[in-house]
Amino acid sequence: MLTKLQTILKKALRGHYAVGAFNINNMEICQAVIRAAVEKKSPVIIQTSEGAISYAGLDYLKCIAETAAKQKVPVALHLDHGRDVSTVKKCLKAGWTGIMWDGSHLPWKDNVKTTKKAVKLSEKYGVGVEGELGTIGGAEDKVSAREIIYTDPDSAKEFVEKTGISALAVAIGTSHGAYKFSGKAKLDIHRLKEIRKRVKIPLVLHGASGVPHWLITQAARYGAQLGKPEGVPDEQIRLAVKEGINKINTDTDLRLAFDAAVRKTLKEKPEDFDPRHILGPARDLMQKVAEHRMDVFGCAGKAKR
Ligand SMILES: [Zn+2]
Repeated sequence: MLTKLQTILKKALRGHYAVGAFNINNMEICQAVIRAAVEKKSPVIIQTSEGAISYAGLDYLKCIAETAAKQKVPVALHLDHGRDVSTVKKCLKAGWTGIMWDGSHLPWKDNVKTTKKAVKLSEKYGVGVEGELGTIGGAEDKVSAREIIYTDPDSAKEFVEKTGISALAVAIGTSHGAYKFSGKAKLDIHRLKEIRKRVKIPLVLHGASGVPHWLITQAARYGAQLGKPEGVPDEQIRLAVKEGINKINTDTDLRLAFDAAVRKTLKEKPEDFDPRHILGPARDLMQKVAEHRMDVFGCAGKAKR
């Protein structure tokens, strides 16, 4: 059975660690994440963007997630960056156990109003809502923002009180995609501390993929043209967890692992056209990346239903 988002996050808040929330679009990505969670004895959140739902279909994703939840680790199924009320309703009806309502692109008043509405809708299903204040830069699926607007700590407190959300995504310098920093990567940890002092619910970090150099090198060796992307170094992630982050989203790192592995197989075995031989190694590499993330987040070994 799927576990509620807030059940997993409340434990993380009490235990001072973060749980990985990994975006899934198909069976192999989901299997990679779940196998990592089982291997690491870790709770896990699998999340679907609105783009993933239109790509794979709500029913397929639901079946995949429910099958995944039969494993011996807590698994939540979360809607990532919900901006469409009808999608929120469909997900709740279908059994999603977490909803993110992203009103961060709206003026404050409208963000509060629409987030409150999402909370009300989700309450009927006993499902917690993640809201967002401030904007995370970069682009991911249908969600994009040109600049980062950092979350103001006092506004964060007011936003949480007014909306009744269960988790808050904060903007402290990260951005979606692989190109996060032009210079040295740096998160605004001071701001995070100030937010943590005022906000007592779990905090969420988006746009936090590590973009490991070894993965970029492998992808490039087999033909990828990715330039020089920069992610958030593990040290900065550990610091953010220490100062109060409880959920960390990861999409880009899985995409990079998938890309690097598929390219390698196609290049090294041009005579092999069996999809299982092409997707299998990609699934293994995504699992390896997810396992490493779980170690960094501190959620490894925390699986107890
Ligand atoms: Zn995001």
